Amino acid sequence: MSFLNSVDEATQRKEKEKARELRQTAWWKGQKGMGRCFYCHGKTPADQLTMDHKVPIVRGGKSTKKNIVPACKDCNNEKKFLLLDEWIVQREAEGRPLACAGKALE
Ligand SMILES: [Zn+2]
Repeated sequence: MSFLNSVDEATQRKEKEKARELRQTAWWKGQKGMGRCFYCHGKTPADQLTMDHKVPIVRGGKSTKKNIVPACKDCNNEKKFLLLDEWIVQREAEGRPLACAGKALE
């Protein structure tokens, strides 16, 4: 899939580095502290929430507070390189809509 090559490696490295820095912030600790996956709204202990990019870095997403959300491991593994919009559509087609679908497109 060609989109995997659309963001150069230096940019990806830079965004991953920014994500690592954000992981140390009080903001991120607060996000995790809510104990809920952004995507499925499942209750998830803070230590099991992972940092996920709504628009993946390889798809041109940035490591900003707007683009980063806490996700449970299941959601993180399943979403992979999909844009959130694409994943929402896919899940709806499968008859198991995402809990965040109503407000994700705001
Ligand atoms: Zn989830």
